[in-house]
Parts: sequence; structure tokens; C-alpha cells
Amino acid sequence: MRCKQSFADRPAYTLGGHRRCLSCAVRYRPLLRRSALTALVVGTVLVAINQGTVLLQGVFPADLLWKIPLTYAVPFCVATWGALTSSRDEKNG
Ligand SMILES: [Zn+2]
Repeated sequence: MRCKQSFADRPAYTLGGHRRCLSCAVRYRPLLRRSALTALVVGTVLVAINQGTVLLQGVFPADLLWKIPLTYAVPFCVATWGALTSSRDEKNG
């Protein structure tokens, strides 16, 4: 998948040796894989810290249905954001 966009008036991100628009960058598989791995590790640690005591008691309060996915979503977004900002080209064109 090679980006065919012009970068004259939009930011470019260099990932895998190719310049990509934002839309292509957020769909770049290696970036998503790395973010997912980060989310898996960090999210699991955070769930253990924040909800471990409750979960080890064998109970599953209803609010964990949104808290746990959110706990994984935050490191995923942070990792993706970090990868995008660090891969953004200094200059357009
Ligand atoms: Zn593109």
C-alpha cells in the first residue's frame, strides 16, 4: 500500500521508508501492531493495579465493562500518537 497523496498542503509521515498521509499512517499495520502490543502490556498492568483486588475476589462489577476497555484504549492511543508525532516529516512538499 503506497500513498498517492500530494503532501503540498498536508502533513506527511514517513513510516516503513515511505511518505504517507495521516489516513494511510493510522492504517499502517506495523504501527497498529506495535500500539496493540503496548496496549496489551500496559493495559494489563493497569488493570491489575486498578482492578486486581476486585477481580481476584471473583466479582465482576458492571462498571468494569467500560473501565477495562478504556484502560487498554488509553495506552493504544498514546502509543499511536507517539509513533505519529515522531514519524511526522519536518517539512511538507
Ligand atoms: Zn495516503
